[in-house]
Amino acid sequence: MKRYSAFAIAREALRFHSGWERAWRNPEPKKKYDVIIVGAGGHGLATAYYLGRNFGITNVAVIEKGWLGGGNTGRNTTIIRSNYLQDPSAAIYEKARSLYENLSQDLNYNVMFSPRGVMMLAQTHHEIRGYQRTAHANALQGVTTEFISPQKVKELCPIINLDGPRYPVLGALWQPRGGTARHDAVAWGYARACSDMGMDIIQQCEVKAVRQNDGKVVGVDTTKGAIDGDKLGLVVAGHSGVLADMAGFRLPVESVALQALVSEPIKPCMDVVVMANTVHGYMSQSDKGEMVIGGGADGYNNYTQRGSFHHVEETVRALVETFPMISRLKMLRWWGGIVDMTGDRSPILSKTPLENCFINCGWGTGGFKAIPGSGWGMAELMAKGQSSLTEEFTMSRFKDGKFIDESVAAGVAH
Ligand SMILES: Cc1cc2nc3c(=O)[nH]c(=O)nc-3n(C[C@H](O)[C@H](O)[C@H](O)COP(=O)(O)OP(=O)(O)OC[C@H]3O[C@@H](n4cnc5c(N)ncnc54)[C@H](O)[C@@H]3O)c2cc1C
Repeated sequence: MKRYSAFAIAREALRFHSGWERAWRNPEPKKKYDVIIVGAGGHGLATAYYLGRNFGITNVAVIEKGWLGGGNTGRNTTIIRSNYLQDPSAAIYEKARSLYENLSQDLNYNVMFSPRGVMMLAQTHHEIRGYQRTAHANALQGVTTEFISPQKVKELCPIINLDGPRYPVLGALWQPRGGTARHDAVAWGYARACSDMGMDIIQQCEVKAVRQNDGKVVGVDTTKGAIDGDKLGLVVAGHSGVLADMAGFRLPVESVALQALVSEPIKPCMDVVVMANTVHGYMSQSDKGEMVIGGGADGYNNYTQRGSFHHVEETVRALVETFPMISRLKMLRWWGGIVDMTGDRSPILSKTPLENCFINCGWGTGGFKAIPGSGWGMAELMAKGQSSLTEEFTMSRFKDGKFIDESVAAGVAH
């Protein structure tokens, strides 16, 4: 695969862009692989990438029922941060955030990581205490955050209204190296690098059954036929319960639709990410100028990848108090994705009751930010049978009562 470079852009400009290669191959499945990953979202592709890069395991298939990145990875609002409360969470999210810093260079693909800073507004006294506690925890974990005053909030985000009638802004938890990245580019960059290592990304191929023999996984049945594999990674976000059922075990996750919307593009007016968890909304401005606005999850389980009017109304109504200028914007589009929520709002990266079958799920409303760290840890878990990044995120913690409670840090905010 040719490397992308300034020289390549100049060369292709001179020959009318006729020389670009396809970014990834479109192969037919082989009969057998060392590792099969189900789900070509960010987490599945990153797992495959680090299996090859860190462990030299390249006889890998990534099987995707639709198109790569077409699940939640291509539907999220792209917020990246690592200001979580519990140590295992801070470790994996900070690993991910730090990998994002150089991901474009590592993948030779511009993922447009923009560490513009993320603030989580404190709009009640309870939130002030909660975020101050998180700032202290982050200091111990080596994650750079600070609790800032309302005046500093206004300085960083001039369009904000500090004196809302119901919920004035009382301060914020500020992570200066948090930010955003281009979600599709993250999936495309990993896919290109995986394909370059000889891995097969098989799109439009749905896994219909998990085959096992004597308690061990032996392969999967797909719409493109049977594929054998020594190890299987299930990385399918909102469809984790469906795949777990095929593999013969139950998961403590619920699948619900999470929605977001964007406004018409406007001139640059906001160069930070703001999350307002009390009123249940968050906002940033995309490079195209759209205001990217996210809200909450549906209150009932479902598999509809769609938006709904009542969510738009609730989210915008809540945010208008803090950002009065958005009341004058037109909405451009809105959508939904199916997220997989655990009871403690932390993910599962774990072995399963089926030998050589591993699961990565439960990222809920906030897994985009974790993609590089999750892939790094999951690859280690699959290659070596253990990883310090994933060891607390077992399935069995729900049986043993060892929850990693992030409901405050992750329940609403992304
Ligand atoms: C509206 C919205 C906003 C969000 N905002 C943020 C945010 O700002 N920051 C953040 O960190 N996170 C955010 N998230 C969460 C984040 O998008 C997800 O946690 C993350 O993208 C999950 O990635 P994934 O690779 O696990 O799943 P996905 O990208 O969903 O990939 C799973 C893939 O598995 C495939 N699949 C399913 N079943 C099968 C099968 N039987 N056979 C083959 N393939 C199958 C699917 O087609 C899909 O492509 C948001 C999510 C949504 C919906």
